[in-house]
Amino acid sequence: MPENSRDSEILDVLVLGCGFGGLHGLYRLREDGHRVIALEAAPEVGGTWYWNRYPGARCDVESLAYCYTFSPVIDAEWRWSERYAARNEIVSYLKWVADRLDLRKDIRFNSRLTKAHFDTNAALWHFETEGGETYRARHFLAAAGPLSAPIMPDIPGLDNFRGEVIHTARWPETYPDFAGKRVGIIGTGSSGTQVIPIVAQQCEKLTVFMRTPNFYSPAHNRPLTAADHAWWEENREKTRDRLQKGQRWGGGDLMLDDEINDAMYKKASEFSAEQRRQIYEARHANGGGVVGWAFADAMIDKEVNEEAGNFLREKVRAVVDDPAAKDKLTPRGFAYGTKRVTVGTAFPETFNRPNVELIDVKSDPIQSFTERGAMVGGREIPLDFLIAASGFDALTGALTAIDVRGDAGQSLKEIWADGPQTYLGISVRGFPNMYMIGGPGSPSVFTNVVMTNEMQVEWISDLIGYCEAHGHARCEADADAQAGWTEKVNGLVKGNLWESAESWYVGANVPGKPRVILAYVGGYAAYKAECDAICDAGYPGFRFS
Ligand code: NAP
Repeated sequence: MPENSRDSEILDVLVLGCGFGGLHGLYRLREDGHRVIALEAAPEVGGTWYWNRYPGARCDVESLAYCYTFSPVIDAEWRWSERYAARNEIVSYLKWVADRLDLRKDIRFNSRLTKAHFDTNAALWHFETEGGETYRARHFLAAAGPLSAPIMPDIPGLDNFRGEVIHTARWPETYPDFAGKRVGIIGTGSSGTQVIPIVAQQCEKLTVFMRTPNFYSPAHNRPLTAADHAWWEENREKTRDRLQKGQRWGGGDLMLDDEINDAMYKKASEFSAEQRRQIYEARHANGGGVVGWAFADAMIDKEVNEEAGNFLREKVRAVVDDPAAKDKLTPRGFAYGTKRVTVGTAFPETFNRPNVELIDVKSDPIQSFTERGAMVGGREIPLDFLIAASGFDALTGALTAIDVRGDAGQSLKEIWADGPQTYLGISVRGFPNMYMIGGPGSPSVFTNVVMTNEMQVEWISDLIGYCEAHGHARCEADADAQAGWTEKVNGLVKGNLWESAESWYVGANVPGKPRVILAYVGGYAAYKAECDAICDAGYPGFRFS
């Protein structure tokens, strides 16, 4: 046993990760009387929000809805300052939560988990960190984050480039000095959309390498006023109830008129063309990423989807001056919503700046990197910095980066080689007593992630309590239940718009990753109802022993 082992006691639960899901898990399981330790690779809490320090990083779900609801103390004492919280404010919130709920004493920071092996005979999980520390626990709650394994673009010669290369999710602690410098940015997803307008203001010359123009809508961020807070006090319960009952994204529509919000539960055909236009306009003026989700059939009916898409195309074209840039920035080739809609501040307008060049790498690919910059169409674009806003190995990447082994030493990475298989996105057959928050096959990224995390933490904690109360040493998904759930998750997108895009939603952004939908698109309410029914029925689909 290594000298620095913490192996002297057997924990009830080891929690992986101290973002929104892990912190709540640590709190709830400790409140239930369990001995719990949480491991966190970073030196601070925050999860994905700790790492994504890039300028402009801001949540595109409204802050009033992007926070915990489980604790009346937290609810009563915290006040958000802006409609969409900046990264720093979210990290401050989570740091404050960790202090207020006295969580830090049970967190091991700078502890990157490298191994999690299940010992079948003892029904115990054995863990090892990068630093060689070991732990043992009966249950393993993995809250590793759906978007926490960054990926770099695979472009020849990138290793030769002598400038500084920065991934948005690994932004350096010391802010780079862009003044007088030539910067290249690869990627125009949610991260690129936020970082591009800020860096453009700070550097001498910015070259944006864009592969796919995304659907975009403005956030219309603003400070929250005393009147907003008073409104929230009055409407909090009602609004949360509405978000939970049907709303998928929990995005920028908290304060929209009821009439406009309610339209999203009706088919577009129930409205005249003029009424639909008014609804899109109202959503666009209000801001946020759910402009096109105006009607219930937005992701089902091609024509409805196309109308929403055309509305947003028109809005982007209206604010870009250069005709060539207008065309490049107009989304095409995929249906609205099948790639994550981006939300930002003055993103398309940034391409009106004289110091910004937009290169469409589909028509003008980056052939290679040299020591000095990027070669495009035989021209060398000199760069001092390259920012990769190139995304993540979503939903599965953070867990498969760890050597997770279940019964008989089987590897999670190998088991998922043809696509993830789970029961409820929570449990995997052959990996007893392991539970995932925001795992593949759960609603996760297709909902307000914090809301779904909370629901899963409560549900999994109840399940662990059930095991304890009944003296069950092992709890795992049953083969049929797992196959049924996986079929359901995949079936929900079969033959419809979701499958059409080259998106991280279907693993298309990672070479070699199987192309399957990574999360459950059925929405929070249906998922919760299903999980609740399973709990009420004594957990069918799980095998206990
Ligand atoms: P992303 O959505 O996967 O975007 C990556 C971008 O890099 C895409 O534009 C992609 O082009 C491009 N790219 C990747 N490899 C490339 C290559 N070799 N050459 C050229 N372009 C390349 O990643 P992200 O922007 O970091 O966002 C990931 C998710 O995190 C979001 O969808 C969202 O769920 C979450 N997020 C949320 C917020 C927020 O709340 N505001 C902010 C940031 C991130 P293609 O589209 O052609 O693949």
